[in-house]
Order: sequence, then C-alpha cells, then structure tokens
Amino acid sequence: MKDYEPLTASTPLCPIRMSLPPAGTPDFDFHTHNLQARPGRALVCIPPHWLINPTAFKPRQGVLYAAGIHPWDTANSNCTTLAMTQLPTLLSHPQVVALGECGLDALRGADLYVQEKILVEQLKLAEQYKLPVVIHAVRTTDRLLRLHKQLKPTCQWTIHGFRGGAATARQLLNAGFDLSFGKKYNAEAYDLTPDTRKRYETDDPLSPEDMP
Ligand SMILES: [Zn+2]
Repeated sequence: MKDYEPLTASTPLCPIRMSLPPAGTPDFDFHTHNLQARPGRALVCIPPHWLINPTAFKPRQGVLYAAGIHPWDTANSNCTTLAMTQLPTLLSHPQVVALGECGLDALRGADLYVQEKILVEQLKLAEQYKLPVVIHAVRTTDRLLRLHKQLKPTCQWTIHGFRGGAATARQLLNAGFDLSFGKKYNAEAYDLTPDTRKRYETDDPLSPEDMP
C-alpha cells in the first residue's frame, strides 16, 4: 500500500470556464455518455476515442463535458499512456468542467495497483485545473477513503451511480464525498444524503451514431 503526499493547490490553468451547476440542482443529469444530451442540462463524458485524439473533440454549443480515463480502459496500457498525455489539452477547454469518469473497479480493468496509479495522476490534474471529479467505484470504497484522506483534495469528489447501503453512504459523506444516484439505488442511502450533497444521473450510453 502506497502513502501519498497531500495534493498541492495551484492557480487555475483555465480561468474562463463554463460552470457546473451545484449539487442538488434538479433536472440536471450529472453523468451521461450521450453526446446528444441537452446543452446545459447534463454533464457529458467524453468518449475514449476523443481522449486519445483531442482534435476529434468537437464540442456542441453550451454542452458541459467531463474528461477522464475510465477504469475499464486501463487494461490497455498503450491507450492509457496516450490518453494521459492528451488529457491536459482537453482539461484546458472551457466547456470541460469536470474530470471523469475515473476511478477504481475491482472487477474490471487493470490490476488495482495500476488503476490506483492512473487515478492518482488524474486526481493531481483535477487539482491543477480546479475541476470536480466524477468517480466510478466498484468494491473499492476503502481505497477511495484512504486516497481522500492522504491526498486531501480541495476539489469535490463525487461517486457516480452510487448503489451502496446506508453505512457506506454515511462513511463517504462524512469523508467529504458527494453521491450521485442513477436508476438503481438504495432508498435508505438516498434518503440520508442531504440534497446539497446529492446528484442525479442517467448514465445513458454513447448513441450508436456517435460510435467511432
Ligand atoms: Zn458512466
């Protein structure tokens, strides 16, 4: 297990950015892969083929985007290395208002040790660019709690598609994470999450016409 130094805050690298509505905003889809989502009403995840080739990124007017390396994609180390070098270009774009989705998945992707390294690199970028983070977490709550404690981020981390129970929700909220709820969730966890710490999402897939 690795010990990390706290992240150091720096001056924002992209001062003129569109802004992400605060947690608790109704009718805002915090996490979708659908590139045709309504402008200003959704946070759209940039697909992996744009990550490795940022010149292909053609933002639609008024649409808010998130850019990051999905833990499932970490199994391909060449693509991950390339995406990592290209990520700052995308994060500098004024319509990219969050880093993600990134995270840890114990069931898919590279070895968790490798996933964690890639995640920490991205979390450093989130601090540099002053961006909130959209986190994909599968059976890795303890690791994420440890990372939050060690890195002491100043940017908000939100667990997307949270399906955990009340005890896990409490642990994450107490540690400073916000929670985003999709179609399936635990009702008790949902109810105990304050509105100001809660996001709503569809996690809609990339539409077939937008596939590379
Ligand atoms: Zn997703």
